[in-house]
Amino acid sequence: MVTNENTQGKAYDRKKISRSDYSELALAKTTYSGIAVDKKKILRKPTKTISGVAPLTVVLPFRACDHGTCTFCPTHHGVPQSYTPLSPAIMRARMLNYRPARQVEARLKAFEKMGHPTDKVELIILGGTFLQYPKKFKYHFIKSCYDALNASAEGKLSSDLEEAKKINETARHRCVAMCIEIRPDNCSESEIKEMLDYGCTRVELGIQMPDDKIYRMVNRGHTVKDVIEATRRLKDSGFKIGYHIMPGLPGSSIPRDLEMFSEIFSNDDFKPDQLKLYPCQVIKGAELEEDFYEGKYKPYTEDETKNILIKMVERVPEYCRVMRMMREIPPVYVIAGLKRIDLRTEVEKELKMKVESHRINEIRMREIGFAKTDDYNTHIKFIEYSASKGREFFIQAVNKEGVLFGLARLRFPDADNVFIDELKGAAVVRELHVYGRALNLGVKSELATQHSGLGKELMKKAEEIAKKNGFKKIAVISGVGVRRYYTDKMGYKLIRHYMIKEL
Ligand code: SF4
Repeated sequence: MVTNENTQGKAYDRKKISRSDYSELALAKTTYSGIAVDKKKILRKPTKTISGVAPLTVVLPFRACDHGTCTFCPTHHGVPQSYTPLSPAIMRARMLNYRPARQVEARLKAFEKMGHPTDKVELIILGGTFLQYPKKFKYHFIKSCYDALNASAEGKLSSDLEEAKKINETARHRCVAMCIEIRPDNCSESEIKEMLDYGCTRVELGIQMPDDKIYRMVNRGHTVKDVIEATRRLKDSGFKIGYHIMPGLPGSSIPRDLEMFSEIFSNDDFKPDQLKLYPCQVIKGAELEEDFYEGKYKPYTEDETKNILIKMVERVPEYCRVMRMMREIPPVYVIAGLKRIDLRTEVEKELKMKVESHRINEIRMREIGFAKTDDYNTHIKFIEYSASKGREFFIQAVNKEGVLFGLARLRFPDADNVFIDELKGAAVVRELHVYGRALNLGVKSELATQHSGLGKELMKKAEEIAKKNGFKKIAVISGVGVRRYYTDKMGYKLIRHYMIKEL
């Protein structure tokens, strides 16, 4: 269960401007509703906010997982479970004693120094298994994150979490999404309600490969049944779901990995919205290290890893996005297995060469920003598929070439499974996302698509589909910082944790 990040707010070096950095100068020339922007400000690491939102990672202090330790997972003193001391995100967090507010402040400053807008932030809680921490700690941790987002704009501190969320609705740094990484056996109804209390909208589940035999071999401590139930409960509550997938685990093989990967999209019980592909490596401080030295385990070679990743991306359907490939483990901690963290570039290059012969459906390779186009004329289309005992509608704004400008995920849950009162009888929007470079609110740019009304068009389509299918209300899981968009522009009302509209 890992997210990687390596940005640091180093001083800008003029000699090191890359071609892509130059292209960003165009954006720096835009104006904030009449206020001139510093034209010398150059955007560093442009892909950081290319999907429209600034990802802000906050790291947890160490806590051992309740079930024990998975054999591939490294343990290091003073570092959250599954990380290594030299990972940049960990080094930053350690320097700040893992204090959540100070981490948020430091990341905001770093983003601003790099020229990234910070009005719209996705808060990512990283390290260990958050839901297993003591309740008091969790509430304090999340409240402190909101307070830090609020304080930097208005100097306001809240008296409790609810107030912190309320203030954030209009703060300068709005939390438009929140992601928590969890285990499939930490997704009971009460745990899902707890995540809603925090303002969480997206969950990353450590799945590795859905096979009970492999789970036993690597001491995962949960079963495939847990994965299936967690996926259904989360979807029925409106969450967007990412799976962490790990090819090359003990007990698997290339054909078996590919077979299981295909099943993730052919079997209705799975069908995630996002993936992180983390091939198994032997990492210093993990139990697998001993198995490797004793000759009981061998990771895939570089060629094998590259080829399996290519084959996996080719199998990803159009409703799924590959968020990341390869963990960012500092090479000094990799005992065996691929050390290169930049493999994705090569994988995508080969995939692009194949585009001539067959289409790649995966979202990231089609989205504006990563995909290049001069055609900004979009139309709305959708596909329907069954998943986790419900029906899903994947609605897209695309141009003629299939370049993706925005998407919405609408779900009709199975009525018998809905356990959240506000969602009874409702169609549920699990995601609304308009792609394009993140811009501060109110900023206009020819190149950006963030504020061009596509969100409204996608929502209208979702409402229309829901109404046509007999639904009388529609609910949206919304980051705290986007609530005003739904009330002010779309006629929705906040009912407990969801934005709801009668149809
Ligand atoms: S669940 Fe397993 S992989 Fe995830 S942090 Fe705990 S021990 Fe590591």
